[in-house]
Amino acid sequence: MRVLRPAPPLLLTLHLLLATPALAGPPTAPTPAGALRVTWLGHAAFEVVSPGGTRLLIDPWLKENPRTPTAWKDLSRFAREKPTAILVTHAHGDHATDVPELARITGALVVTTGEHLRAMKIPEAQQHSVNVGGGFQLGDVRVDAVPAMHSTEPGGRPLGYVLTFADGRSLYHTGDTWLFGDMSLIQELFHPDIVLLAVGGGRWALDPRTAALAIRKYFKPSVIVPMHYGTFEPLAEEPEVRAAFSADARVRILTPGQPTSL
Ligand SMILES: [Zn+2]
Repeated sequence: MRVLRPAPPLLLTLHLLLATPALAGPPTAPTPAGALRVTWLGHAAFEVVSPGGTRLLIDPWLKENPRTPTAWKDLSRFAREKPTAILVTHAHGDHATDVPELARITGALVVTTGEHLRAMKIPEAQQHSVNVGGGFQLGDVRVDAVPAMHSTEPGGRPLGYVLTFADGRSLYHTGDTWLFGDMSLIQELFHPDIVLLAVGGGRWALDPRTAALAIRKYFKPSVIVPMHYGTFEPLAEEPEVRAAFSADARVRILTPGQPTSL
């Protein structure tokens, strides 16, 4: 976590195909039919487009995010490529700062705890509150809220999210967290195929070695996408992340702004 100032508060064989890198300007690279497209936007921010076209933003901290490509910092692009929903794990500035503006620009549903929605003054029609254990269907995506071991203020409690797609695959965004025993239940219930894993450590969350332990101990994914590193001091930098997962061929180091089809 980091409170910025000023801040308001495979069932299919997984073939990892690098999609055409996003060129400056066009908001969308072609997506192979039926593919799941994941674009890291730096730090914990992702755009996920389901095989059926449901477009989700997760923790879209973009304008002041040092790792977000310039083309993604202009939030007006999301008026053209509207997300179906914006999922927020917790209230810290490096996750939620841009959410109220994005809600205004897009009119999208905003998904997080009721406490956090009210604190952000999200219009009632766009509020879609969730809490640990809750879930709902959004287009062709099932969204489930799971625990994270962190803090949040305001915001009730921190969350992670599991997205389950129509082909049966699932994707787990850990949010900011340490490893915790209930990760075994997340594995048992959702068997995530893809884990977007906070690894940056510093003073706030899982460091790369502990994140690698969390995978070894609790999960059996096909793809591991490290995130929440290399953004600012004292988060771990990429070489440390690569070293912690050195022998693991499932790890995909993504380049912010470049869509990857899974
Ligand atoms: Zn954070």
